Amino acid sequence: MSDCLFCKIIDGSIPSDKVYEDDDIFAFHDIHPKAPTHVLVIPKIHIPTLADVENPDLLGTLMSKVNHIANDVLKLEAGYRIVINVREGGGQEVFHLHVHILGGKKLPF
Ligand code: 5GP
Ligand code: ZN
Repeated sequence: MSDCLFCKIIDGSIPSDKVYEDDDIFAFHDIHPKAPTHVLVIPKIHIPTLADVENPDLLGTLMSKVNHIANDVLKLEAGYRIVINVREGGGQEVFHLHVHILGGKKLPF
């Protein structure tokens, strides 16, 4: 989608600090990290929010790759938190589905 910030990060027209990419997803460091490690994982297809997902297989793929990135790429052996903000009431600011991976310190709930 041409006016979407995260689509532009995927196509490289906006630079990012990439940590992982494959045919389905793209992962990069959050520009305003809320923890020592704060990475965003996004599907390559434009879906505005979690509530817009129609294919449950997409969520299975996304979450298994989040787990792979957290464990094998970011090496968050002590653990990590995942967050998905949904719509304005959930704190979503960028309307391209994304999973936050937070780690690198003990996180209070
Ligand atoms: P949301 O609030 O929508 O769940 O999260 C959006 C996240 O995107 C925020 O944590 C914000 O810091 C991050 N973000 C916004 N603009 C950019 C950007 O241009 N580059 C990167 N790497 N992260 C961004
Ligand atoms: Zn997009």
